[in-house]
Amino acid sequence: MLRGRLSSVTPIQGKAPNPMVRAVVGWQANRISDPVARLHFLRRTVGDLSTWNPVSAAGRSHLRSHPGRLVAALGAMLLLPAGAITGSGFLWNRHPIVNGTVGTAEASSASSVWAVEQNKDFETYSNGLRIERRYETGNEARTYDVYPRGFEDSGRAETRTMPAGIVFHTTESPQAEFKEDQTRRIRLIGAALLDYVRNERAYHYLVDRFGRVWRIVRETDSANHAGYSVWADAEWTYISLNRAFLGISVEALTQPGTDRSEATPAQLTALRALTEMLRAKYRIPVTNCATHAQVSVNPDNMQAGYHYDWAANFPYAGIGLPNNYSLPTPSLWLFGFTYDTSLVRVTGEQFWKGLALGEEQLRQNATAHGMSVPQYREALFKRYRKVLSTFKAKTEKSKENIG
Ligand SMILES: [Zn+2]
Repeated sequence: MLRGRLSSVTPIQGKAPNPMVRAVVGWQANRISDPVARLHFLRRTVGDLSTWNPVSAAGRSHLRSHPGRLVAALGAMLLLPAGAITGSGFLWNRHPIVNGTVGTAEASSASSVWAVEQNKDFETYSNGLRIERRYETGNEARTYDVYPRGFEDSGRAETRTMPAGIVFHTTESPQAEFKEDQTRRIRLIGAALLDYVRNERAYHYLVDRFGRVWRIVRETDSANHAGYSVWADAEWTYISLNRAFLGISVEALTQPGTDRSEATPAQLTALRALTEMLRAKYRIPVTNCATHAQVSVNPDNMQAGYHYDWAANFPYAGIGLPNNYSLPTPSLWLFGFTYDTSLVRVTGEQFWKGLALGEEQLRQNATAHGMSVPQYREALFKRYRKVLSTFKAKTEKSKENIG
């Protein structure tokens, strides 16, 4: 979800913090929408501000696009007594019984999971998963095209309605310290967040800090979670994953430059159970489970990593998945996207590994085609632009938010 332009963190005069510190501090500061709070943060962190300017270009994330609404919602919630978390309307929608036995060796870690109980308030599953339904809502019915890998512009797309993968997000929303005496605040912030993401149709699922799993947009519909994005598996290429992939967001705020996981232990347990259920239900291969940072692209400058939530520290192993940070980033080798090296400085080795492997694969593919890297990249750009314009023409009527 989160977005800020690291490269625009620029000292304006005199002595400035070193580039690494500057990038990290600027990144954190850019996520603070209130200017006074941002100033306090910067004073605490780097002292005298007369020497450099951390202000960046406007961010592009679901929360950042309407920060005033979130703050207003949060303010309203804080006026309510503790425990007055209100539910929103929902429509009862019967899901097919889940009984997924995954057949492929790759997907065999997803065990059989089935629905145990379903009612208008919640669902429970055989692996301990409980889904809260009070914020559930609808959006456009999911229908999307997949493209044969390497022949994306051949006109041989296939239309599907079942989700093909999962994109993991963080909400990058305000946080109270995770301590017992902060319970009321944590609940109020969480309730405001639920209202916000429901209004935005921002995700299919939100996992709050106590590990409660909230369905936001029904699995049958698209959600506005991944905008411009690219992923691929062994056979197919997926673009603009709002439709093709389910979006799960962890209520968390990234701590850049640390090895700490942003998720609470309860969130990890819930995320594992939810991922297991969805993979079993839709036969989702492990390689189609990726973080927003890994899939996000910016067609305007042809750079990957436009959003960088979970650019590092996603608990792949903790939720029963292989470390997909080791996969070559598909946008690089499929469509020639490049990346911002300042992003790598902040996000570290995990994200960099996929980018470096993606670039290496691009080089090898160029050689195999007897082309220089710039020539090959230009051909891939053309291919991406063609696929994207086809996609846009098909979805124009839906007014989908893909940016
Ligand atoms: Zn995201």
